[in-house]
Amino acid sequence: MSIFKSQNIIACSHCDLLVSVNELNNGETAECPRCGGEIASHISDPRDIFILSITGLILFFSTLTIPALKFKMGNLDGEFSILETPFAMFNNEQSIIGFIIFFSIISTPLTYFFSILWLVSPIYLLNKKPRYSRLFIKLMNISKDWIMLEVFFVSLLVAMIKLSDNMSLDINLAFITMFSLIVISAVLHKLFDANIYFEWIKNLQNERTK
Ligand SMILES: [Zn+2]
Repeated sequence: MSIFKSQNIIACSHCDLLVSVNELNNGETAECPRCGGEIASHISDPRDIFILSITGLILFFSTLTIPALKFKMGNLDGEFSILETPFAMFNNEQSIIGFIIFFSIISTPLTYFFSILWLVSPIYLLNKKPRYSRLFIKLMNISKDWIMLEVFFVSLLVAMIKLSDNMSLDINLAFITMFSLIVISAVLHKLFDANIYFEWIKNLQNERTK
């Protein structure tokens, strides 16, 4: 799906028909006259993306640091946070799994949300183009494909169901923040990409030359 603000010729991603699309208002989408597939929607507002990326970062740090699970087995009890998971793997000589967890649920979401915030903040707050934008677009695109929060979330749930026969387990707030984080990153995937960023820059330059 391509997203444009001013009039543009867009190839339908479903059937390749070339369609001329006029400026779209908030909430409007354009459909292909031949196959009915969605070909364009209104360009996202920098303010929305700014708020979503800040919320994402706050949820990210809460998810990592708030204890996710409390367990009790016999006279053994304790709790752990998501941040402790990869390090527990390193300590138990499961370095590869520890590295995969660190990479897919800590470093990639952090890079993703931070890159978006880096790209959107100067545009929203200062009406300015961000520095090193190419680097951060690249980082955003690479990290987007490697975030595996939902896989981790489901595997935690499965592990809990399996373990619940042998020990008592309590779900903590981190489960809710993690679920919200998954939703926020899915919304950002849908609302923001490099095309939209370049549209914003084009609009900034157009405003300046007016
Ligand atoms: Zn079509």
